[in-house]
Amino acid sequence: MDIRVTGLTKSYGISPALHGIDLDIKSGELLGLLGPSGSGKTTLLRIIAGLEQPSTGTVFFGTDDTSRLSVQERRVGFVFQHYALFRHMSVADNVAYGLRVRPRGKRPAEAEIVKRVADLLELVQLGAYGQRFPAQLSGGQRQRVALARALAVEPKVLLLDEPFGALDAKVRKDLRSWLRTIHDKTGHTTIFVTHDQDEALELSDRIAVLDKGRIDQLGVPDEIYDHPATPFIFGFIGESSRVPVTLTGGRIQFEGTTLPFNAEGLPDGPATLFVRPHDVAPVEPASGTLNGVVVAQRRVGATRRLEVALGAQRTIVEADLPALRAGETNKPVGLKLLNATVFAANGEVRYFRGPNIDPVVVRPPAFQRA
Ligand code: ADP
Ligand code: MG
Repeated sequence: MDIRVTGLTKSYGISPALHGIDLDIKSGELLGLLGPSGSGKTTLLRIIAGLEQPSTGTVFFGTDDTSRLSVQERRVGFVFQHYALFRHMSVADNVAYGLRVRPRGKRPAEAEIVKRVADLLELVQLGAYGQRFPAQLSGGQRQRVALARALAVEPKVLLLDEPFGALDAKVRKDLRSWLRTIHDKTGHTTIFVTHDQDEALELSDRIAVLDKGRIDQLGVPDEIYDHPATPFIFGFIGESSRVPVTLTGGRIQFEGTTLPFNAEGLPDGPATLFVRPHDVAPVEPASGTLNGVVVAQRRVGATRRLEVALGAQRTIVEADLPALRAGETNKPVGLKLLNATVFAANGEVRYFRGPNIDPVVVRPPAFQRA
């Protein structure tokens, strides 16, 4: 089921929560809706579900304008962050609930319900847990039951609002790849809301990045990570340092040093350079490197991360070294930028891949379901 959202706005009182959202979700796609707290993710999801009315705009399921459909008629499966299982019902009865409350004519026979529940519990790897009660399950198991319950009614669309938000990091990570496997098996059109960029990058076919009620960028994970459209997205996705620079006739300057990137066409004036720690190589200070002093270092997984203070403002740039190489604190160092991105004051952007090469923009293929 394709979903199309056009011109959607939502205001609570005078403060707008969503500004003109346009979004096309393809049938079978897993779309990650990523944004900080308060950016409007839950509001957008609740409008798509029919739990909330938009101020303006329309949601289509296929060619159907959903404003004419009730919540039941939309046939959406919903899973929330705080699992809302019925405490007094067994796991199997929880999963069966949505089917048993259907009016007589639309309710499957009891034997059919029992079979469907057993299949779903098998799918979420809880085949042996049907007779337990929610209190006897771990948080991760409860969310798997919540997903089975959402799938039981054969939804056209699956909406997941930070379903793993309340779980600890290890469980979240396991459930992430598990959810991707389930999605690939069942093929539901799914919208997955998260404020966790790793979760969005790993799970999604495409990601919509929401900021202050607007979609700032929509793209496949590679596109979002490698070509963030705005300074906000660059800062929000992955790790990065920002360096205030000056553009003059296509040259990028930082306190007297000219960087080896060609920024012709960008307007002169102040600009912001972004670099990721793994794209910064500490070398002997030289012309064209950003020169500074190592002020701190710490171990981050497989690498050793250096904090380098640059210039009079002591702008901090982070750089990764192999962990076995000790970076010496207080040592002068040059930073060679392997990749970098510059945003001019007017929002125009250049992505640089390697020193002395002109910017390239690689557009990964759009989402295609096999
Ligand atoms: P997110 O899910 O991204 O954290 P929400 O969609 O919950 O964001 O909220 C977006 C904005 O709308 C926030 O500023 C929030 O305070 C506001 N908001 C959400 N629900 C209501 C409501 N029922 N009444 C008033 N304001 C609301
Ligand atoms: Mg929310």
